[in-house]
Amino acid sequence: MHALLNNDRDIRINQSTGRITSKTLEPIDQLLLILPKPAKPGVWRALPQGTRLREAAKKRPADAVPALSTRLHNKRQTRVLGGQISPSATAFEQLEFGRKLVAAATDEKAGRVGICVHGFAASDQEAICKNVLAAALAAGYRMPQYKDQQSPANIKSIGLLGVDQKLDLSRVVAEAHGNNLARWLTTMPPNKLDATSYADIIKTVAKKYGWQFKRFATRELEKLNAGAFLAVAQGNENDSAGIIRLRYRPAQKSASANLSLVGKGIIFDTGGTNLKPFQSMLDMHGDMQGSAVALGTLVTISELKLPIAVDCWLAITENRTGPDAYKSQDVVTAANGTTIQTIHTDAEGRMALADTLVLASRDTPGVIIDYATLTGSCVNAITNRYSGVFTNRAEWHPRLKRTGQLCGERVWPFPIGDEFLDSLKSDVADLKQCSAKNEGDHILAGSFLEKFVENDTPWIHVDLSASDNDGGLGHIPTKVTGFGVRYTMSLVLDEKIHETGN
Ligand SMILES: [Zn+2]
Repeated sequence: MHALLNNDRDIRINQSTGRITSKTLEPIDQLLLILPKPAKPGVWRALPQGTRLREAAKKRPADAVPALSTRLHNKRQTRVLGGQISPSATAFEQLEFGRKLVAAATDEKAGRVGICVHGFAASDQEAICKNVLAAALAAGYRMPQYKDQQSPANIKSIGLLGVDQKLDLSRVVAEAHGNNLARWLTTMPPNKLDATSYADIIKTVAKKYGWQFKRFATRELEKLNAGAFLAVAQGNENDSAGIIRLRYRPAQKSASANLSLVGKGIIFDTGGTNLKPFQSMLDMHGDMQGSAVALGTLVTISELKLPIAVDCWLAITENRTGPDAYKSQDVVTAANGTTIQTIHTDAEGRMALADTLVLASRDTPGVIIDYATLTGSCVNAITNRYSGVFTNRAEWHPRLKRTGQLCGERVWPFPIGDEFLDSLKSDVADLKQCSAKNEGDHILAGSFLEKFVENDTPWIHVDLSASDNDGGLGHIPTKVTGFGVRYTMSLVLDEKIHETGN
């Protein structure tokens, strides 16, 4: 596809229905065996070498993952990694369980992996199968490496064994593609993924999926009076910053968008003139994860051929130091005419998003969802395990939260609104960019952004506090989580949020 992307072949997936026999297991290198907690003796006995496996499982506590680690007495010496999970476990618990079980299998070359979810009701079997498969597809995806000896793809194929009936796996696979792309891009070094190569990659992806591609370069953004974005962009060494608009139109080309995805794409955030210290700057090549999540979500939507029109807006720039960089107390005018007194150059995300939201909302889509690694205070409030959500439809809070619980990418809603703008009152401009006091900055940032959503367009802002978590999160084994693709797909497919906007 593009030389800078992962061009490995997809992991093959196959399914076999009916009873599991010794023959089913013959080609399998590693068997992930998942049983209900507690598992009745009959559940074990129905498996090949079941009695022996049950004895082996007694060596470890039932709630360990894996709770069973042994090898089958067969020619291949199939390794068996077992675990027990309650059918009532939440989606998040199932995903974490899947991640740990898969991690145990991939500590050696995993080869052909079998997933056997046995002894459950059909609907529970389906859910657990899909969640463990999601974990395997995430773990089997190689991240960028620039070494002579690249580690080979660890998982060659995945077989779902003994399913009651063949499962439709298209959503799991499409979500994995979207999430994997988001994680790949976020992990890329910032000298390889600069604004120019990023735009080039996006163009290639757009071509593959048949999206319309338009890039608003700084000169066009000047005509649109996008002074907030341009304040951040003016510090770039070259004129490579820009806002990219992608359009997915499965039916009429001219249809207005049902859904508009907006992403913060700060490809490296030094903090700007108000420079970050070393530890805070170290991982700032990942400050474009919001844009990667928006892009990954559009990939997933396209692969599923969803019959909705979707726009995607990506605000791509560095936040640099230098003689041209913006500074505290600059006053700039955003595309909607709002004047902003800059306070802290490290609050660049809301500047870049402000103008992007103006442009996105002028097209009056059914709903806008934006993604941004925006504030440290959101992490302070809810840790890296949840992301924060904010909306100009406060009545949606229960839906937003419920959707997170349903899909396993969990969110927590926070209030926004004019009362919080008291903290952003400015003597010289319509708004301060942020408060110098920094209390509740995630709420102030959300309240600030709301001022740039035009036409009262329904809007959800996701502050990606769960974008990075040491040791992974849910089904994702890497520190970079790509959080948001799965959540958005659940908002669209399960909650049908785009149909209820207005
Ligand atoms: Zn920043």
